Amino acid sequence: RLEITNITRRFGGRPVVDDVSLAVMPGQVTCLLGPSGCGKSTTLRIIAGVERADEGEIRMDGKLIAGGGVLVPPEARGTGLMFQDFALFPHLSVGDNVAFGLSGTRTEKRLRVRELLEKVGLHRYVDNFPHELSGGEQQRVALARALAPRPKIMLMDEPFSGLDNRLRDGIRDETLAVLKDEGTAVLLVTHEPEEAMRMADEIALMRRGRIVQRGAPYNIYNAPVDREAAAFFSDVN
Ligand code: ATP
Ligand code: MG
Repeated sequence: RLEITNITRRFGGRPVVDDVSLAVMPGQVTCLLGPSGCGKSTTLRIIAGVERADEGEIRMDGKLIAGGGVLVPPEARGTGLMFQDFALFPHLSVGDNVAFGLSGTRTEKRLRVRELLEKVGLHRYVDNFPHELSGGEQQRVALARALAPRPKIMLMDEPFSGLDNRLRDGIRDETLAVLKDEGTAVLLVTHEPEEAMRMADEIALMRRGRIVQRGAPYNIYNAPVDREAAAFFSDVN
């Protein structure tokens, strides 16, 4: 369980993330949803540990990982990270890409790589190089790589926005299935209400740095907190 409490981040005196509190429960997909520039990526980067907060604290399974003078480095937080630009290492094979963040013996690594590549349906490409794969296949390898060290929470920042429409729905569903199978909780950042409605167990609606509403997708869609929220959801059908 990831708990973010009263996080604030200012740039040039202006709060870009303004007193944000958020929890991600085990096994659940939580979506941080809001328009461009509202502070979603900054929030995610603070949780990942690649950006600092000015105020607030973050706990993972009760343990303080940021705040009150504590700042646990990104690789020790139990979080995995996926971006839109999920670039694989071009000079490493698919298998070596997935093994990259792993520790342990060669046999242990090989078994984990095999397990993950089988889950994403790409084990036959273990010795191929990234440029020999399609965009969708590279995305699946990136997922396997991010999952390899068994993060408790996967932090995803618009991971599907670089894919063309034809592929996107399939990859979304497949990604969710793999994450569920691994038992990894997800915090997914998106500016698309439709994506949040499709993927989230819980939505946190963000606007100008603040969380203005949270709840199950169905509830937020049916009972938006105000006109602005209603307008934001009006394109979803
Ligand atoms: P998008 O949907 O477009 O990705 P976002 O919700 O992810 O938007 P952020 O990237 O978190 O938004 O940015 C929020 C605001 O903070 C923006 O106005 C941005 O210009 C500003 N900002 C982000 N990082 C910095 C920085 N390092 N210095 C100054 N301003 C910043
Ligand atoms: Mg962003």
